Amino acid sequence: MKNNKTIIVVGGGPSGLMAAWVLSEHFEVHLFEKEKMVGQKLLLAGKGGFNLTNKLEGVSLASKYSPNGFLDSTLKEFGSQAFRDWLFSLGIPTWEGSSGRVFPEKGITPAQVLTKILDSLKSRGVVFHLKHKLESFNLKPEFLFSYPGGKLEIKPDYAILALGGASWASTGSDGRWVNMLNDNKIATIEFQPSNCGVNINWPEAVKLFHTGKPLKNIVLSVNEKSSRGEALITDYGLEGNAVYPLVPEIRALLKKNNFPVIKIDFKPLNTIGQLIQKGKDAKANAASYASLFNLNSVFIAVIKAYTNRSAYGDPAQFAEKLKCIELPVISLRPIEEAISTVGGLSLKEINPDFSLKKCDNIYAIGEMLDWDAPTGGFLLQGSFSMGYFVGKNIIRKENGTMI
Ligand SMILES: Cc1cc2nc3c(=O)[nH]c(=O)nc-3n(C[C@H](O)[C@H](O)[C@H](O)COP(=O)(O)OP(=O)(O)OC[C@H]3O[C@@H](n4cnc5c(N)ncnc54)[C@H](O)[C@@H]3O)c2cc1C
Repeated sequence: MKNNKTIIVVGGGPSGLMAAWVLSEHFEVHLFEKEKMVGQKLLLAGKGGFNLTNKLEGVSLASKYSPNGFLDSTLKEFGSQAFRDWLFSLGIPTWEGSSGRVFPEKGITPAQVLTKILDSLKSRGVVFHLKHKLESFNLKPEFLFSYPGGKLEIKPDYAILALGGASWASTGSDGRWVNMLNDNKIATIEFQPSNCGVNINWPEAVKLFHTGKPLKNIVLSVNEKSSRGEALITDYGLEGNAVYPLVPEIRALLKKNNFPVIKIDFKPLNTIGQLIQKGKDAKANAASYASLFNLNSVFIAVIKAYTNRSAYGDPAQFAEKLKCIELPVISLRPIEEAISTVGGLSLKEINPDFSLKKCDNIYAIGEMLDWDAPTGGFLLQGSFSMGYFVGKNIIRKENGTMI
């Protein structure tokens, strides 16, 4: 027998779906989504490498989230193995790639992942209200939705806001809910792009002949922060898994009106000394660099574009450039293109159980909160974990077993 409290979840992304799933064991849950379908950003995430989570657990997993400590209790309750077990119970087995990223088993499409989650929610009695847009709410709490048939006012016992960040507005996550929060004097922070590309003023020789080509097995660094992996040359700059972890550092420098510089190490497995020696031993000249140092044409083009003629012709100076080419960054790519955003609802407005300090029957979870994490499965893990944690917290509150 379900508890007769009215529970609404607003926003049908990973965090909202998970909160609805947990709560539906004890309550009739009504899930409101302004688009004609839920989970559109989840499906978009599936178009690239669909990193559902990561093999990291415990302190190593929690350390990926900022601000520090923000998700510790949440991840303790629902870490990556718990998430994988939950997916498995829904018929979504997962596998771990060599980088530690966790994906759905080969052959399982993103649409099938979403369908299995939705089938489970429906079987648990969750009521879906699609094309229902939250227009306003107050702290009594009362919620007003608009839908094609008119307006709907609800006075829930508990409400969970899971409205998403502000990138890829076509998925429904447009960040326009900020005004509603401000109307209730709840502080928000300006959205900024995270896990996004950077604008670099490429010399024509690179742009013309190497746009769309990857720089593989490199190390990029900005100040003390470095990141290993791959970066894609685009007509505007660089994208890719080696770039994204540097975005917080770049964002901070840009904010202080400093000009960030990305340094590229093309030979992370060699020291400068080894490379210089190699050049000497082989009596290298510019024509032999590619075979001697095992460099492809993209590496050569980038180094050439950022090295003056005499330094390029000198094997010792060329060897130094292999360890450090400096690319000045103009700016980050626009929010709309970013994989995730920072900013949104200020964490100062949130209690440790994710309820609002101004109304503890309203909760806020997922990317709408001001937190950050790198790619690699950490964004989805964080969002699903918050949904789980909030669901359990509300159940505990109702049972009088809140810790
Ligand atoms: C291109 C791309 C690739 C990605 N790849 C990965 C990946 O591989 N791994 C990973 O971990 N993460 C990835 N992410 C990030 C991940 O998808 C998001 O962090 C995650 O979806 C956030 O979940 P959420 O529930 O907080 O919000 P969202 O998924 O954004 O959902 C929010 C929902 O709220 C609804 N909503 C908003 N306003 C209202 C309103 N007023 N009324 C009613 N409903 C409303 C929206 O329509 C939306 O459905 C990727 C993101 C992008 C853009």
